[in-house]
Amino acid sequence: MKSISRSLYRLLFLAVFTVLAATDLWARAGGGGGRVSHDSGGGGGGGGLSFLIYLLLSHPLLALIVIIAIAAYYFYTKKNPADLFRSGGDSEDRRPPDLPSGPFPEGLDVQKVQTSFMAIQDAWQKQELKEVRRWISDGVYQRYTAQFRMMNKLSQVNKLSNIQISDIRLAKASADGNYQSADVAVSFSMDDSFVSANYPQFNENFSGDRDTEYWTFIKRNDAKKNKDLYSTDNCPNCGAPFDTKMGEISRCAGCGTLTNNASYDWILSEITQMDDYQNTAGDALLQNTELRELTRNDSLFAVQRMQDIASNVFMQIMEVFTGANQNKLSRFADKKTAENILQLKTRSEGFIFDRLYLNEVSLVSFNTDPEKLNLVFSLSATYQRVKVSNQKLSLLDNEMTTHPYSMVLSKNLSALKTAEKETVYSYECPSCGAPYNDTTNDTCNYCQAPVIDLNKNWVLTDFQMG
Ligand SMILES: [Zn+2]
Ligand SMILES: [Zn+2]
Repeated sequence: MKSISRSLYRLLFLAVFTVLAATDLWARAGGGGGRVSHDSGGGGGGGGLSFLIYLLLSHPLLALIVIIAIAAYYFYTKKNPADLFRSGGDSEDRRPPDLPSGPFPEGLDVQKVQTSFMAIQDAWQKQELKEVRRWISDGVYQRYTAQFRMMNKLSQVNKLSNIQISDIRLAKASADGNYQSADVAVSFSMDDSFVSANYPQFNENFSGDRDTEYWTFIKRNDAKKNKDLYSTDNCPNCGAPFDTKMGEISRCAGCGTLTNNASYDWILSEITQMDDYQNTAGDALLQNTELRELTRNDSLFAVQRMQDIASNVFMQIMEVFTGANQNKLSRFADKKTAENILQLKTRSEGFIFDRLYLNEVSLVSFNTDPEKLNLVFSLSATYQRVKVSNQKLSLLDNEMTTHPYSMVLSKNLSALKTAEKETVYSYECPSCGAPYNDTTNDTCNYCQAPVIDLNKNWVLTDFQMG
C-alpha cells in the first residue's frame, strides 16, 4: 500500500518536473576544466521556475495536489522532496550508469586525483597554471593557455564555487607502449558563473551543476618509484624548488629534467566529458600489433602521447586563426599544410572564440607510404565565434556548436628505428634540444638543423575542417 502511494506521488511529481525540464531548467553550460554543455545551452533556469509558479497560480487544484504530494512524500520517506527529481532518472544526474571500480594502478590513488581536480579548478578560475604545470602534459597546458587567451580578449572569467567531489573511481587502466594510462571517473557538483565585465551578454550562472568527467593520467613503465609531484614543491630529480615561471616547457631550472615526462609520477594528460568518453569507439589502436611493431624502437611512442601532441597542434592552429603569430605553424606543419591553414584563416578573417573546448582527440587510423608512417586523428571542438569591432560584439554563430576536424601527423619510417630525443614538441629543437625563439627560422639557431624534419619529429601533413 505504502509503495503504491509513493509511486503515485512520484509520478505526479515527475509530471510537474517534466514541465520544468521542458522549459530548460537544467540546461547547463561549460566552464571549469573545459566543461561544456551538451544540451542546447540556454541562459539558466529563471524561465522554468517562473513558468511553474505561473502554472500553479493559474491552476489552484494543481497547486493543491502538488502541495499534498510534497507533504505525503516527506511523510512517508522523511526525505528531502528535492531528492525525488534527482533520482528521477533523467539526464540531470550525469553520473554514468555503471561505473566500474577497479583498483588504482601503483602510484595513483584517490588522494592524488582529488588534489589534481581541486588544483585544476583553482587554476582555471585564476587563469594561472603555475601551481599545476609540473604534473600536466604539454597538450593540457596548451588547451588551457589557448582558452585563457581567448577569455582575456573578451575579459571573461569563470568563477567556480561550492566544489564538491562525490565520487572518484578508476574506469580503465591500459598498457600503451612504454607507458600505462588510467582513466579515472570524477563525479562532482559545483556552482559555475561565467562573467565578462565588458561583454555581459555572454554572462551565465549555474548552481549545483552535477557532472562526471574522465581524467586520463599516464606514467612510464620505467618510472622511478615513490616520487610524488602532487604534494611536494621540489624537483623529483634534483630536489631544487620548482621554478614558478615554468610555461610552455616544464623543465626544472636546476637540473634540466622535464618534470612532466611521466618518468616520475602520473601526469594528467586529458580531461574528457562523459558523453564524449562514452561516444568514442575506444582506443582501438592501443593493441594494434602492426602499429606497435612499427613504433617498437621509439621509446616515447604511445597513443595517448600522440593524441596529446595532436591537441597541442590543434590549439596552436586555433590561436593562429584568432590572430596569433602565424610563425607558430612553421614549427610543426609542412609548407603545404601551413598554406592551407592560412587559407582557411583568410576565408574567415577576424573572429575570436567565445569559449573554445576541444572535446575529444582520437587516433583513429594509420597508414604507411614508401617513406612515412601517417597517423590520422579525428577531433571535435565546441565553440561560438564572435567578431569584435569598436568595442562592439557581433555573433558569427548563434550558439555554441560542435565541429569535427581531422589531422595527420607523419614521420619517416627510418626515423622510427631509433629512440626519439626527449624534447618539448614544437618548442624545442628535436636535434639539439635548444628552445626555439619567438621568431623562428627554418633552421635551429644553435645547431642549424631544419625545424620541420620528418626524420626527426612528427610533422603535421594534413589538416581539414569537417
Ligand atoms: Zn631538478
Ligand atoms: Zn638545434
